Amino acid sequence: MAKYSIDIIRHSAAHLMAAAVQELFPNAKFDIGPSTADGFYYDFDLEQRLVPDDLKKIENIMKKLINKKLPFEYFELSRDEAEKLLEDQNQSYKLDRLNDIPEDDKISFYKCGEFVDLCRGPHVEHTGQIGVIKLLSIAGSYFRGKESNPMLQRIYGTAFNEKKDLHAFLQQIEEAKKRDHRKLGKELDLFSISEKVGGGLALWHPKGAMIRNIFETFWREEHYKNDYDLLFTPHIGRSGLWETSGHLDFYKDAMYAPMEIDGNDYYVKPMNCPFHIEVYQSRLRSYRELPLRWAELGTVYRYEKSGVLHGLLRVRGFTQDDAHIICTPEQIETEIAEVLRFSLSIWKSLGFTDIKAYLATRPVKSVGEPERWEQALHSLEKAVKEHGLECEVDVGGGAFYGPKIDLKIKDALGREWQMTTIQFDFNLPERFGMSYIGEDGRKHQPYMVHRALLGSLERFFGILIEHYSGAFPLWLAPEQARILPITERHHEYALKAQKTLKRLGLRIHTDCRSETIGSKIKDARNARIPYILVAGDREVESAAFSVRSRREGQIGELSLEILKEKLLDDINKKV
Ligand SMILES: [Zn+2]
Ligand SMILES: [Zn+2]
Repeated sequence: MAKYSIDIIRHSAAHLMAAAVQELFPNAKFDIGPSTADGFYYDFDLEQRLVPDDLKKIENIMKKLINKKLPFEYFELSRDEAEKLLEDQNQSYKLDRLNDIPEDDKISFYKCGEFVDLCRGPHVEHTGQIGVIKLLSIAGSYFRGKESNPMLQRIYGTAFNEKKDLHAFLQQIEEAKKRDHRKLGKELDLFSISEKVGGGLALWHPKGAMIRNIFETFWREEHYKNDYDLLFTPHIGRSGLWETSGHLDFYKDAMYAPMEIDGNDYYVKPMNCPFHIEVYQSRLRSYRELPLRWAELGTVYRYEKSGVLHGLLRVRGFTQDDAHIICTPEQIETEIAEVLRFSLSIWKSLGFTDIKAYLATRPVKSVGEPERWEQALHSLEKAVKEHGLECEVDVGGGAFYGPKIDLKIKDALGREWQMTTIQFDFNLPERFGMSYIGEDGRKHQPYMVHRALLGSLERFFGILIEHYSGAFPLWLAPEQARILPITERHHEYALKAQKTLKRLGLRIHTDCRSETIGSKIKDARNARIPYILVAGDREVESAAFSVRSRREGQIGELSLEILKEKLLDDINKKV
């Protein structure tokens, strides 16, 4: 049985790594070394640039120190003594960190071998309890994350109690690398990002665009079926709109510079909400027309630092699957329950069932009446409970304008992704002076809820590529089946069958190249085509195909009739 939590083990491993770095590079300066969700890191200022070979060396020293079972020795110093110690050791970053410790707090250190670290602890008793370690990568990192500060070198590593856990973790990293959507996006010709166009601006290639189109169609149909209306709104809007919404006061850093048209400043939209509100404001509204549920696949642009851009997961231009629900106070509970039910049903139909809710409540600084916050929170809590969702509450962690629920889903590798957000807004209805005429003939302020189900289509697509490892289910696959005629004399039969299947709406191609059947099969498998249909003399004679399914393996000979039914059935079931 492990005596220490994984966090303590990893944080201790970070100290151990620093001790090894100090042994290898005696002039190293140290910043901090915390544990993380799946390991630890430490930031160093070194005279030389670290290379992968150094990781091996550092790792070997760490293993040697683990075997020595060196104690972690705790001691406290006065502030003056601590300063003197750090000055003597020329540890300027540590001195800077020392200033973060409040006046009356005790100042503690841990000594492990020759390495002394300013640290609150706790730690393991001795290095022998650290378990198994592995150093993973080197990265650059600004001191305190600020670009004006010196760039430090960061080493990432991980530690586990047991060898088998480390092994499983490393395998997961390998698997994630194989599934990297940037790699698969290129191999499968799904999308690209061109520096000539600009960082963070995705180009959807025909196959990627095909998947997006199928998905958008599904999304629109589901919204209509669930009593939503759809809107289209422009990409730019006048500065006055963004002043009213407050974006120019609070969100300007994420917005692109304005363009001048006829003496007015226009901004590219970072959000769709103000446009939806203007649709609402286009005429007087009565309680009789509420609730309104308006959805849009709205493309927005936000500034992200170039350093954080990452394939489709972090981009500058993206299409939100946005919706706004505008309703009366009496309707809010039903509406929230509905929006959650709808979100969960979409995730379920996409095959994601491991879903967790995160509820964020009222922060100290907030707008909106306390009773409305209460009611909103109550409706969120109730909806989560009704669906039996596991829920974590972040007390005081909500936005200043309303409480929210986020839904996180787990992918095929067990990684958690934050996807759906259901967010109350007590700010915009006030700022835009939204109202409706109530049953009493008087004006009332409606409730407004923002909802993004998938978040953005770009990010969602990136996650889907990794989740399916590029092998999309039949209903989404850009090419659902490929016919492989064995020789030229089977072309006519193949093309005729292709025509029949295409008329049913199936996405199907015929590989008429003069390659061997073996290499055609290999190419089709690499392209992750769900169904491979081989046609030779025997198949032509019996009006059939020799069928290989990606999911079920070799199926054998199927007549065109049975094949048709099977494909349509799989598409319906979304498998
Ligand atoms: Zn420590
Ligand atoms: Zn919104």
